[in-house]
Amino acid sequence: MDKLKTGQLPALSDPTGKLKGVGPRIGERLQHLGIRQVQDLLFHLPHRYIDRTRLIPIGALRSGDTALCQGTVELVQVLFGRRRSLVCRISDGTGAITLRFFHFSRAQQANLRQGMTVRCWGQIRTINHALEMVHPEYSRVDADEDITLEQTLTPVYSLTQGLSQFKLRNLTGQALETLSRDKAGLTELLPDRVSTQFGRLSLGQALRFVHRPPRDADLDSLMDGTHPAQQRLVFEELLAHHLSLRLLRKRAQARAAFPVGKDADGRVKEFLGNLPFELTGAQQRVLAEIRKDMAHPLPMLRLVQGDVGSGKTVVAATAALQVIHSGFQVALMAPTEILADQHFFNIKQWFLPIGIPVLLLTGKQARAEKDDVLARLNSAQPSVVVGTHALFQEQVAFSNMGLIIIDEQHRFGVDQRLALLEKGAAETRQPHQLIMTATPIPRTLAMTLFADLDISVIDQLPPGRRPIKTTVLSNEKREEVIERIHDVCKQGRQAYWVCTLIENSETLQLQAAEDIQEHLARQLSELNVGLIHGRMKSAAKEAIMDDFKAGRIDLLVATTVIEVGVDVANASLMIIENAERLGLSQLHQLRGRVGRGSQASDCVLLYQTPLSGNARVRLNRMRETGDGFAIAESDLELRGPGEILGKKQTGVPELHIADFVRDAHLIPRVRQTADHILEQYPQQVNKLISRWLSTKIDFGKV
Ligand code: ADP
Ligand code: MG
Repeated sequence: MDKLKTGQLPALSDPTGKLKGVGPRIGERLQHLGIRQVQDLLFHLPHRYIDRTRLIPIGALRSGDTALCQGTVELVQVLFGRRRSLVCRISDGTGAITLRFFHFSRAQQANLRQGMTVRCWGQIRTINHALEMVHPEYSRVDADEDITLEQTLTPVYSLTQGLSQFKLRNLTGQALETLSRDKAGLTELLPDRVSTQFGRLSLGQALRFVHRPPRDADLDSLMDGTHPAQQRLVFEELLAHHLSLRLLRKRAQARAAFPVGKDADGRVKEFLGNLPFELTGAQQRVLAEIRKDMAHPLPMLRLVQGDVGSGKTVVAATAALQVIHSGFQVALMAPTEILADQHFFNIKQWFLPIGIPVLLLTGKQARAEKDDVLARLNSAQPSVVVGTHALFQEQVAFSNMGLIIIDEQHRFGVDQRLALLEKGAAETRQPHQLIMTATPIPRTLAMTLFADLDISVIDQLPPGRRPIKTTVLSNEKREEVIERIHDVCKQGRQAYWVCTLIENSETLQLQAAEDIQEHLARQLSELNVGLIHGRMKSAAKEAIMDDFKAGRIDLLVATTVIEVGVDVANASLMIIENAERLGLSQLHQLRGRVGRGSQASDCVLLYQTPLSGNARVRLNRMRETGDGFAIAESDLELRGPGEILGKKQTGVPELHIADFVRDAHLIPRVRQTADHILEQYPQQVNKLISRWLSTKIDFGKV
């Protein structure tokens, strides 16, 4: 193979196939990790380290440590206890430790012999005051052959099926060798003054350090991700991420928008005057911000954050009304059919009486119905179309789109938002965009994740809401809870019973919900117990929701499909099973389904015993506060950002090394540097982005 010939050593920009030990199969596996070129290996960064640079005397080992030690085998034996295991005791003069294997082969058993020296690596535990390692990594050390210890801390990489740590260490090693030779292959893209802030490390030096930290490096800071070499890379990654959002914004605003003028002000006033309530101060403020944006000939890009029940829908509807009166169409996209139905229902109630057509477009609609909606969209007639992802499918053509509203933004990825935007765009202009989220993301995090958007916050709930009283109960108290449902429903109120994921399986969840509905229907025979879940046909879902809204169903058993958007004011009791399995923000969203009317509402969080300490803290947090932002902060502290954002759903690119929470303090400097680069070195921007991000967005178009 040519890759082994001298003079043909790989360059950083070569495909990984040029490296030793990478054939088509390994190459494909590397691609799963986003690694195509040799250089990409350098950006596949370790997420932790182990210290195999020193041997620890057995007598100094402590339970809980993970350590490297070495000793002479004193005893090898198979024990037949509760579980068969192979045990091997080694000692080094300072103490003895047992290596225990529950899975072992005959060969392994035969290879461990009394008197030989083995070196082993693993986590230490103590059983009956004796030290033990279960399934350690180990190798035989020949007495006269002195195998050297590792010279650097050992990196631990994230893996994919069929790629071992060993293989990745080897490949990153080759990539680092390539880097030493091919210095020109990795250009420095940060301005000088930035690298001085991180110990004057060049990109190459930082990468080398992070992949192979010297044995005296500060292991604690490396494990925390706060070492200057790591922070140098974190900064560059956050910068690339931030620049990509800035370009996204630039691209969205590359075309003009039709300004939505003041001519509709009278109609808006009239509409608001006819509502059965007055807008809260926060709603008025946010509406004013939106109207100001839309009056410009530049497309609005605004994110509205507001806690569950803060009244985002009516704000969006009022903005829509203004756009329609200026002669344009409006699309409202929701992440689920139930939520789309709900919006369709509400908006119809508001708009039909004033002669504005309201259309619905979802994936499960009948052909003829869909064709009719498509034809009407094509006719350029001002109207509102409410829908799901179906809105940006191929056959849909908007002819006169003035405003796109996206509800529950965190469920859509950046690329989906772009797709809808492209749909609405005409040759020379672009619709305004309004994005709504009930996920209360703390401000610094929001500014990082949504650097392409302006942010408004509805930080006030409509008046007269009674706080929801939350209780945390063990599953053993189920009977009492069922009693309570009985009482509440007998008073003419309604209740939800939410079944959460048992295993990571929709089928199992569904089955659990069916079983519970059956069980509750038997126990509460005077009540009407309904069931709703994600696998139901839309018509069936709609029928159940109609029955619940009309009060024909007293107790609604649901899978987590009701998480977003169900609005039934008469429901005042919410039971959530296996609450300990859910993130706090998700619990908060679910809880927000009650407390929508004027009566006092309750939420019962049922948990399975035994409850871990962390889970207890989290559930108590739910009892203490009803403030979505405070809850999100706790979630961040206790579980990290993936929990509140939903890792897979955010459209936030996977990060190599940065952590939006840990590294939030860098954001102001990242923004400044981004301004500087955009102004002084615009040619670096795409290079930085493509080095760190592998998104589907075509930034070349910008
Ligand atoms: P969310 O922000 O969670 O989407 P919704 O828009 O669904 O909240 O509003 C929740 C409920 O509060 C709806 O029934 C809505 O009609 C009502 N509502 C909205 N604004 C007000 C207000 N200013 N005063 C009283 N009720 C309001
Ligand atoms: Mg809503």
